[in-house]
Amino acid sequence: MIVVMEKGATKEQVEHMVQRVESLGLKAQTIVGAERTVIAAIGEKRPETRQSLESGPGVAEVVPILAPYKRASREVKPEPTQVVAGSLRMGAGAIGIIAGPCSVESLDQIVTTARAVKAAGATALRGGAFKPRTSPYSFQGLKETGLKHLAAAREATGLAVVTEVISPEDVELVAHYADVLQIGARNMQNYRLLEAVGHTKRAVLLKRGPAATMEELLLAAEYILNEGNTQVMLCERGIRTFEAHTRFTLPLASVPYLHHKTHLPIVVDPSHGTGHTYLVPEMAAAAIAAGADGLILEVHPDPEKAMSDGYQSLNIPQFQATMDVCRRVAAALGKTI
Ligand code: PEP
Ligand code: MN
Repeated sequence: MIVVMEKGATKEQVEHMVQRVESLGLKAQTIVGAERTVIAAIGEKRPETRQSLESGPGVAEVVPILAPYKRASREVKPEPTQVVAGSLRMGAGAIGIIAGPCSVESLDQIVTTARAVKAAGATALRGGAFKPRTSPYSFQGLKETGLKHLAAAREATGLAVVTEVISPEDVELVAHYADVLQIGARNMQNYRLLEAVGHTKRAVLLKRGPAATMEELLLAAEYILNEGNTQVMLCERGIRTFEAHTRFTLPLASVPYLHHKTHLPIVVDPSHGTGHTYLVPEMAAAAIAAGADGLILEVHPDPEKAMSDGYQSLNIPQFQATMDVCRRVAAALGKTI
């Protein structure tokens, strides 16, 4: 439910209604707008709730929140959210560029990459220390050593660190080193993990599961928001279809669709979304054209030697060229990167 207060409603009336919402066993989220204040009453729907709130002092009307996700919806918060984490700004007019290798492989590799991507315009550094690999025999990441290397790369460049956390037990450790906690596609519906990152003070990059619907993605975000963490970015990284010319199918209509439904920033991952280096620059530019608030791109100084996802990684000159195209597309839309 959304409790819409009258234009001239007093602070005391708003406060009173917040308490009334909470006494009904619902969580209250107050949104002070330019025109009027609204209170989102979030929790399980009960038929008597609406009548009980409608009679409150200073209440103009009580309307149901139609979307199954509440805190993530534009109905509750019409204006876009900007996520800020160190050097990274994403959403509400800011375009963020997260670049770096799939995996952290060595101190030298991550610091070298960080310097190069920063020089080319990246605003955050990515790199996996805990890797969710399809095969148990594949490289699983450097774990805490990798996190330390990422922290050193941040120290050297000032770039915010984006890195994946794959289990609830590791959240505290990863949050100690990272600026942004990445929830990978495979874990989008790992609800205990979503709650755990929701308890931290770190921004979260939530990737879409390859078989998840938009509604499931938004409900996954709701798990994080519902724990009190408002700094959530959604990432379209491609879905599984019958099509085999790309590793996944990258549906860019997700970007304007999600902007319609949610205030959260929308990021696109053309690296996993295509699975081929040669397709990445155009799809990165297309994502910006579709209105993405940011990109996450795999960049490796020597992709042929990468320990994971080299076949979809840009080398440094390719990343520079991609940034140039994206900047031109952004400029055509009156935006800057
Ligand atoms: C990654 O970013 O390296 C990764 C594992 O991505 P995804 O979870 O989208 O597969
Ligand atoms: Mn990868």
